[in-house]
Amino acid sequence: MNKYDFQKPTWLIIIGLVILGMWITPGCSKVEETAVINPTLPLLPEVTPSATLQLVSTPEATFTEEATPIPTPVPLERPQYEISAYLDYPNQQVIVEERILFSNPAGKVLQEIDLVVPPNNWWGVFSIQEITAGDLPLERYSLTGVKLNLVLGDPGWQPGENLELRIQYTLNLPQQNALAGYGPSPFGYTSLQTNLVDWYPMVPPYQEDTGWLIHDPWIFGEYLVYPAADFEVSLKLGTPGLIVAASAAPTAEGDPLHYSLTAARNFVFSISPEYQVLEEDLNGVKVLGYIFPYYQGPGQAAFEATLQALALYQDLYGPYQQPSLTMVQADFNHGMEYEGLYFQSRGFFDLYAGSEKSYLVSIAVHETAHQWWYGQVANDQALEPWLDEALCTFSELAYYEHAYPQSVDWWWSTRVNIYQPTGRIDRSIYGFQEYDDQYLNYRNATYLQGAKFLAALKDQMGDEAFYLFLKEYGTRNQDQIATGEDFFQLLGEYLDFNEMDWLEEYFLLD
Ligand SMILES: [Zn+2]
Repeated sequence: MNKYDFQKPTWLIIIGLVILGMWITPGCSKVEETAVINPTLPLLPEVTPSATLQLVSTPEATFTEEATPIPTPVPLERPQYEISAYLDYPNQQVIVEERILFSNPAGKVLQEIDLVVPPNNWWGVFSIQEITAGDLPLERYSLTGVKLNLVLGDPGWQPGENLELRIQYTLNLPQQNALAGYGPSPFGYTSLQTNLVDWYPMVPPYQEDTGWLIHDPWIFGEYLVYPAADFEVSLKLGTPGLIVAASAAPTAEGDPLHYSLTAARNFVFSISPEYQVLEEDLNGVKVLGYIFPYYQGPGQAAFEATLQALALYQDLYGPYQQPSLTMVQADFNHGMEYEGLYFQSRGFFDLYAGSEKSYLVSIAVHETAHQWWYGQVANDQALEPWLDEALCTFSELAYYEHAYPQSVDWWWSTRVNIYQPTGRIDRSIYGFQEYDDQYLNYRNATYLQGAKFLAALKDQMGDEAFYLFLKEYGTRNQDQIATGEDFFQLLGEYLDFNEMDWLEEYFLLD
């Protein structure tokens, strides 16, 4: 027994059973199971506009005092998103009003703004009804791939000025896996699950030399770079009996549901009529699990691993900054991290045989670690995917070393050594095109070599100094987008690189 061994959670709420008892079958026509990848025909039923829809929006701020408002607005620390969405579940359509309030990030007048619009990576999914740019004249806008370009008229967007963009748009959700040539993305729906992830236009980072930073999607890996932002989100459901998992617990129940989350990379939802809910409080953090019926054994195991990992990583990496963490059983074979919520591959639930020596547990703790390495400290996922993936794969090892030391050898042999990973870690998601199996080589280098590198670093530094370094890396880069340079610059304060000729095995050195 050690401190990371947990009791079984004291209570398990099986909302699904209650819902089944109460649920009067809604008038939704369920979509057939999507076993087919890349369907060539859109399977959405005819969409009927919800004419009576009343979008929920926050009233305009009004000054109640006589005092004159301050003429020069204070630049915002982070972009502020206010998103009101209506989910038409039977038609798998989302009607959205989005406001983004943000400050000119450049030290100069800007005539153009680029937003990144991930849903436009799917054909026929994203359509804009209206865009306005506050008091500034919006001359035109265009949508190319995942980039939404806005061209402002004179006088342009002044340095230091705040701007409120309003975008009204509709999503006709795709079936999951509907994007030809791409790996499974959680975005879209199956017969069991509707996932709103990367589902709204978002502000990319701005770089002085190159401007707005938007990468192209790739056939694997992630391509988005998320500046931290604040979110006020409301979700209206027209259909009774739906259970909603989200990046945060709702601040107000009912319909619509309201959510608030600060310093977050994104805000996501997963919705199903079938979820059973697990819930536990871990030192003030609400931990939730959403699983499908008949998966209580593996669901409980993944949930407990999440709790253990959350406790362990708070010790190793520093406090968890969000009020909740949610695990969702994916209706697809892939794990994926988001702020405050992660998806766990359906396949790992199916394969679970009752031991911690399983991918269900390894990947649950991997995805939990992303709340630090992705959430609290973000990175350019396209150009430096190793920065979060190596740390999270290593975090699996850290979990076994602390909670199940007898299973460390299993982890090395099953998760890493069996693939005999070699090669440089510091490559972008586009940097594997010389290989027949790009994904395999990307995975081996970024995740597995990445974990080997960090384990070797821990051996070199000793556990205490190594974890102090990681904690400091987390603190210094909290809510920022860190780079490999930041990582090594800080590491240089802890050790002498001249003693580390083995680094060449993993990195291209100057
Ligand atoms: Zn990962």
